[in-house]
This record gives sequence, C-alpha cells and structure tokens, in this order.
Amino acid sequence: ATRATEAGYRWERYFEGDEDGGKWRIALLGELDEALRSGALWVAFQPQLDIVSGGILGAEALIRWNHPVRGPIPPDSFIPLVEKRGRIADLSLFTVDRALEALRKWQGVGLDMSVAVNISATLLKKRDFLDAMWEKIESSGVRLDALTIEITESAALEDPEAAIAAMNELRERGIRLSVDDYGTGQSTLTYLRKLPVHEIKIDKSFVQGLTENASDRILIRSTIELAHELGLKVVAEGIENLECLEALKELDCDIAQGFFIGRPMEATAFEMLAENGGAN
Ligand code: C2E
Ligand code: CA
Ligand code: CA
Ligand code: CA
Repeated sequence: ATRATEAGYRWERYFEGDEDGGKWRIALLGELDEALRSGALWVAFQPQLDIVSGGILGAEALIRWNHPVRGPIPPDSFIPLVEKRGRIADLSLFTVDRALEALRKWQGVGLDMSVAVNISATLLKKRDFLDAMWEKIESSGVRLDALTIEITESAALEDPEAAIAAMNELRERGIRLSVDDYGTGQSTLTYLRKLPVHEIKIDKSFVQGLTENASDRILIRSTIELAHELGLKVVAEGIENLECLEALKELDCDIAQGFFIGRPMEATAFEMLAENGGAN
C-alpha cells in the first residue's frame, strides 16, 4: 500500500533511474541552503492517537523535500548524506523551528497537542547544537511538556555515556524523550532502564508483523509490560490497518501512529484533524 501512492511511484522510478551512480545526491547537498530558504524543504505532521481515549494527542514532525525537478525525495535518501557532510545540525534546527512554530500556534488557540522531533544521537554530543536548540525552544515560549525528542536506539547505544548525559540535561529542562525504532538495536530490555526517557517507540517492522508473527507479538507484549513497569509510555508506529490497531489495544499499548490513523500531512491539515478528533 505504501508504494501505491503517487509519490511512491515517483520515488521508485527515480531511484531505478539512478544512472549517474548517485552523483545527483551529492549535487543535492549544494542545493540544501536554497531548499531551506525556498520552502522546498518543509515539515509534515503525522498524527498520533491516544489508544485509550481514541483522540488525537499530537504529531511527529517529519522533514520533506519537494525538489523542483526531481519531485519528492524521501528523507532516508538525503538525511544520511546531510549527516555525513556535517549539515545535520542546520537541518535539525529547521525542523525544530517548524515544530515550535506549530506548537506555539496551537497552544495559542487552546489546541493541546504534542509534537515529536527526530534528533540524531550524534547531535546530542554537540554542545553548540544543544545550545542553539535550547535557545530556540526558550524563545518560542511553548510549554515544554508538549515537546518530545525522539532518539534512535541504535544511535544512542554507540556512545551511551555521552547520549545519556545529554538526555538527562534535556529531561531536567522539562522536555520529553522517546527512544525511536525500539527493537532494531542490539539492546536488551534491561538496558532500557538506564535511558532517562519517558517513552519508547516500537519499530514498525515489529508492529507490522504483530498480527501474523508470534515472535513479533511476544516481543511487543513483553516490551509493553516492561515499559509500563518502568513507568514509560509505549508508542507503536507503522499501523496500517484496524486489525493491527486492535491487537495493540489488546496488549495495552498507549499510543498509535501509522497510515491507518493518518499520513504525514501539512500543519494546517493536521490542525483541522486535531480540532475534530482531539483527545481533549
Ligand atoms: P522514523 O523516525 O522512524 O519515522 C517514521 C517513518 O515511518 C516516516 O518515514 C513515516 O512516514 C513512516 N510511516 C509512518 N506510518 C507508516 C505506516 O503506517 N507504514 C509505513 N510503511 N511507514 C509509515 P519518513 O517520513 O520517510 O522518514 C524516514 C526517516 O527519516 C524517519 O524515520 C527519521 O529517522 C528520518 N527523519 C525524518 N524527518 C527527520 C528530521 O527532521 N530530522 C532527522 N534527523 N531525521 C528525520
Ligand atoms: Ca521518529
Ligand atoms: Ca521510528
Ligand atoms: Ca526509522
């Protein structure tokens, strides 16, 4: 179903026709600043559902690149490059800006929504990035408990001490923390105890196997049980049908995200959805 979207077809054709050996991707990097200015890069919001109340409680902010010639380029194909070329701080600050702008607007009209932003663990070790991000957050005036930072589990594991120190700092300042792509790293469930996080996000590869695969179901069930014992919320991502959502409800999962609930969308579209289906 994912590939059946118009954009999906365009992306696929695009990569099949990668005849210059990927040189276009390198060239893309030279267009980054222009794209940040022009609106070619923009941030989409994908709704998150409170499974118990059945209301929308917030969104994950996801970067999008609508290239004027090449069309939509998926983040997985430019973020690693941006990261390698040392531009991930600029891109992440852009996403943080857009997320804060949305939050401030929503809080201003009494729309009580949370926003989750992806920050790579490598950035958590950069003092100047943390300071720049904090300055943006403070000057935005948003209520901090509405902001969640998602950090991928595998990345956090590469240098646990540094990542944990930065996480503690953010947590003390009142920001929520989430472990992204949980289950794909090498960590044991007990390692989770050491991370100062509020929430874990079970990777979509397990979520999508939930209704067919007994071992995925066992992993999800035990993850949810342990997380709850540790006082953590559990988000499941990649929910594409009702059967999957109902199975997660059965297992006491807290929050659901996926195409079945809503695709990543423009801020104004999310606002309308939230006004009509908010949890509060
Ligand atoms: P992620 O953080 O794991 O984000 C979830 C991805 O799953 C998103 O892909 C989302 O569109 C997709 N998704 C959501 N629901 C479903 C579903 O039901 N089925 C399927 N098959 N997929 C679903 P997207 O937007 O292409 O982003 C890919 C990755 O790029 C993200 O994975 C994240 O790691 C990274 N990314 C996106 N935006 C940013 C950003 O602003 N900063 C950084 N550092 N990374 C970002
Ligand atoms: Ca994420
Ligand atoms: Ca994820
Ligand atoms: Ca991912």
